[in-house]
Amino acid sequence: VIKVYFEALRYREEGFGTILVYRDITKEYEVDQMKSEFVSTVSHELRTPLASVLGFTELMLNKPLKPERQTKYLQTIYNEAKRLTALINDFLDVQKMESGKQIYEKKYVEILPLIQKVIEHLEINTEHHDIQLQIETSDLMILGDRIKIEQAFTNLLSNSIKYSPDGGRILVRVHTRNDMLSIDIEDEGLGIPKESLPHLFQKFYRVDNSDRRRIGGTGLGLAIVDEIIKSHGGQVTVVSQYGQGSTFTISLPRVTQKGMGSNHDGQSI
Ligand code: ADP
Repeated sequence: VIKVYFEALRYREEGFGTILVYRDITKEYEVDQMKSEFVSTVSHELRTPLASVLGFTELMLNKPLKPERQTKYLQTIYNEAKRLTALINDFLDVQKMESGKQIYEKKYVEILPLIQKVIEHLEINTEHHDIQLQIETSDLMILGDRIKIEQAFTNLLSNSIKYSPDGGRILVRVHTRNDMLSIDIEDEGLGIPKESLPHLFQKFYRVDNSDRRRIGGTGLGLAIVDEIIKSHGGQVTVVSQYGQGSTFTISLPRVTQKGMGSNHDGQSI
């Protein structure tokens, strides 16, 4: 994007002139685009759950309801309020990440109970997906912020659920390669178009096509995962076949018994 304008110029003592200035404002233009996208995403994403909280509350206030119906509405209100909280937390996380204020409390963490906890938690909310866990190593210790690693894994696994048809199989595979402990999250879902792959971990990026437009989201989940994992000396990668499925892999430096020395027992590092 080029901005062209005239600028008055005084040269030497003799007089004035004008010059034609061409300035490349591509960066500013992109930042502006991102900002307006952000505002519309935020307002849309916050408005949708709020509308349903208000709608169902109004229904409950306006006429007496059978207990089963009441429970059903309350459950929806509860779920939507939880979704709002998660969204606001995502926005705040990104803000913290950008200002460099995110603090990671690193301790020795056993990865297996963490993974099992996240799977159990997500399974409650999806009866339609078959989540399988496959462990191929006994070195299952990392040094990290438990809550943040849990958040990264939750984001990836919930994406696999969100972007897979009902009945889809999801495989979580834990294995080691060299000094890294890797967790693959493999789904048989929508997959990701090739041209989207390089942008996937950018903030607010969402793959835009008719299959997904009705699936809510902010485009922040993967950016958050990327930041968390990089801050732990690891990396997130993705391999995907459009229309067939995706495999996201988190790799983190693994800690062997020997490497743990006397700092075991969950002390802060
Ligand atoms: P959100 O899900 O809120 O849109 P994310 O940052 O988590 O944001 O993901 C960015 C985009 O990547 C999503 O909009 C979706 O199109 C795509 N995506 C992420 N995970 C998967 C997956 N497992 N299968 C297919 N597409 C995915």
